Amino acid sequence: MRYAKARIAVNVLGADPMDELWDSVMEAETLGHHDYQAGLGRDDVPAMFKDERELREAWEGGWDEQDQMERIKECPYCNDPSFVFCPVHG
Ligand SMILES: [Zn+2]
Repeated sequence: MRYAKARIAVNVLGADPMDELWDSVMEAETLGHHDYQAGLGRDDVPAMFKDERELREAWEGGWDEQDQMERIKECPYCNDPSFVFCPVHG
């Protein structure tokens, strides 16, 4: 798995975590979006992310973002052009 390799690069070789882990983190976040749409709950973090804090948080971040987007889609204030700022979502 790519993340495991990146982990080694960071821990053993002293590589910059953001350089090495960025792709994996982005993938985890994207998966969070998809999993939300697939009907998974916020507690349904994929097993492979559970022990990897960065990936778990990225997945949850993606899930949260999708959740927010879905709420905004259904929010009467966000969809009302007479409200410049939504009182709920800003
Ligand atoms: Zn709103």
